[in-house]
Amino acid sequence: MQHFPIFVALAGRRVVVSGGGDAALAKLRLLMKTEAHLTVFSPTPAPEIEAWADEGRLALRRRAMEPGDALCAALFYGADEDDAEDARTAAIARADGALVNIVDNLEGSQFITPAIVDRDPVTVAIGTEGAAPVLARAIKRDLEERLPVTLGPLARIGKAFRKMADALPMGRKRRDFWADYYFDHGPRAYEAQGANGAQAALEGLLERHLNAEDRPGHVHFVGAGPGDPELLTLKARRALDEADVVIYDRLVTPEILELCRREAMMIDVGKEAFGPSTPQADIDRLIVEHGRQGAQVVRLKSGDPTVFGRLDEEIEALDAAGIAWSIVPGITAASASVAAIGQSLTRRGRNASVRFLTGHDMKGFADHDWKALARSSEVAAIYMGKRAARFIQGRLLMHGAAPDTPVTIIANASRPDQRILATSLATLATDLDEAALDGPALTLFGLAPRAAEAAAHHLIQEAL
Ligand code: SAH
Repeated sequence: MQHFPIFVALAGRRVVVSGGGDAALAKLRLLMKTEAHLTVFSPTPAPEIEAWADEGRLALRRRAMEPGDALCAALFYGADEDDAEDARTAAIARADGALVNIVDNLEGSQFITPAIVDRDPVTVAIGTEGAAPVLARAIKRDLEERLPVTLGPLARIGKAFRKMADALPMGRKRRDFWADYYFDHGPRAYEAQGANGAQAALEGLLERHLNAEDRPGHVHFVGAGPGDPELLTLKARRALDEADVVIYDRLVTPEILELCRREAMMIDVGKEAFGPSTPQADIDRLIVEHGRQGAQVVRLKSGDPTVFGRLDEEIEALDAAGIAWSIVPGITAASASVAAIGQSLTRRGRNASVRFLTGHDMKGFADHDWKALARSSEVAAIYMGKRAARFIQGRLLMHGAAPDTPVTIIANASRPDQRILATSLATLATDLDEAALDGPALTLFGLAPRAAEAAAHHLIQEAL
């Protein structure tokens, strides 16, 4: 982001515009919506500007700008539509201490004016860093259609009512009240009975919300999926939209955290395998504490919360505290990984079952029924298996697994930096060392990428 969007308070401040033609007119039409003191410098002003000056809406100086003319100005617009004159006036304004914009000259400007959708007091500003004015206009058109014109008056009436609404406790109760007003009762009342209707709706709603029972706290265990935000479920999206508190793990990607409600309290309890982490008991306590305060808590876990997610400990803590909870499933890393290599987890005639294993548990490398897994055509998705690769390889070979059993490691499945390492049981540990994969990785034992598998079959057939 090269330009940081802010809304500048212009009431009572000076804004200076140099220029008297079309560019100046366009900027002045916008600026006159504010309460700024406008001064225009132009030896040849358009008739509209003269008329506005006569109406006292701006001060007009019929001459070119000179040093000192932009003193105490908050903003300056160079709108002479002449490169040399723009450079000259911009230098003066900069020396006078104003923030400078030259119309249609991104490089020469210290700030840019966004495309604006005006539903005063609601203002939507759209910027594309100058990259695509066409796109900004298209978005503006879209928003103009989507935001009802009643939004402005509704917001103004709502603003005047804010003090009254402070009778509601801060947080969810107050938010529910306003959501009811803006998105449900308010628009209907305004359309039926205008401003008086909206005012009456506010009063009725306040009464109702003041008397409403407190909504009890609830903890949603939400699967964030493997990382691609498009792999979130609609339910997960909704839970993130409505969350008061989001307690998330290390593997949840920033793109997904971006989708959480802006006002939500974000708590990182990231756990690094074998590394420093928030102790489970502290996480349990945290969830219970926020649930008890009546918050809508999202406990956001990577993949599916029911797969190696230590979900049961957290559920038991909530049950003990009598706090309601629910589970929103997510796409587990195994599903995203087989998708990445174009394979199925199960296949008729090959494997009728699939195992989900963990490479390590609380005591270190995890032990499993290696003998069963070593039989031909078995398939396993091994989570947290990178560091345990040599151990797993040793156990499987010891129990008679074929050294040429395909093994595929998928790092960062579904993310832009996804990497796939196709190897075999015999070469697993060395290949993995060599590849130095970063990020979470899933090991698929017994599966090769479909393309590689096809190539291998081809070779076999040729040999026959
Ligand atoms: N509940 C999660 C698993 C948590 S255990 C799920 O259902 O996916 C953490 C392990 O999951 C990581 O060590 C890694 O093996 C795997 N994992 C999580 N996200 C992954 C991703 N995007 N790509 C590959 N493996 C991933």
